[in-house]
Amino acid sequence: MLIAVEQELPKVEHRMCARHIYGNLRRAYPGKELPKHLFWAVAKSFNAVDYYKATEDLKKFDQGVYEALMSKNPENGSRAFFSCTSVCEDVSNNFSGSYNITINKAREMPLVAMLKTIRRQCLIRNEMRRKKAAKHKGKYTPKVAKTIKEEQRYLKYCQVIPCGNDHYEVAEHVHHGFRVDMNAKTCACRRWSMTGIPCRHVLHVIGMKNNLKPEDFVNFDWYLTSRWVAQYNETMRGVNGMYFWRKSGETELQPPPREPTKGRKKIQNESRAKMNLQRKGKSKQRM
Ligand SMILES: [Zn+2]
Repeated sequence: MLIAVEQELPKVEHRMCARHIYGNLRRAYPGKELPKHLFWAVAKSFNAVDYYKATEDLKKFDQGVYEALMSKNPENGSRAFFSCTSVCEDVSNNFSGSYNITINKAREMPLVAMLKTIRRQCLIRNEMRRKKAAKHKGKYTPKVAKTIKEEQRYLKYCQVIPCGNDHYEVAEHVHHGFRVDMNAKTCACRRWSMTGIPCRHVLHVIGMKNNLKPEDFVNFDWYLTSRWVAQYNETMRGVNGMYFWRKSGETELQPPPREPTKGRKKIQNESRAKMNLQRKGKSKQRM
């Protein structure tokens, strides 16, 4: 896959799934208690400084685990080194996992039945999502409100120092300074650029300004509720069943012949009758 993506899609960023990296680590250390939070801190670091701090913490926990992780090139699976172009902070391909589990039952079916089952699953899901999106009030999707709420918990640790021209230095826990540029819409922590949703440092700057709301600084319109609703405007149509299919006039396809079953072979009728006769003869002699 690595070679194929590099050759065929040279300009596309290829990320590794952090969940799979973690799974491989667990296999390398069966029975060993791996602290999840240390590993996920590495994957979910938004910038290189946080990433190196997280890897150091893992090293202090266990040198062997640290070396095993380093051999997997974890930079490909950490937000700290992801490009902000796609504005996606996902570190795992959980959505593929969810899809595979959802269609698990259908995968065992013959082709037509499998496709029909998956299509119906899609119809049910789309309808559910359509209703959910239509019911949602607010300019942006719930993810925006949730992220802002989580970041707001850290506002009490931040302090803003204005530098002029809408530039700011935001101190978190007094010592850690973050450069915020409201014109370029960037913060040194990289969270704003990578997610499009203001980070705690930017939220603090916004809080200083009159009549401004955090939602006004969401960078991308694909978080808009109207976009979410529009996604489900195009509906899939129902499909008529086999009963309505037009006869083609061609010979009907038949299943392939069954392979002979392994194990004990069935006795042919003739030889079975011979054996029965022999048995009867023996029992008469005994009488
Ligand atoms: Zn920030």
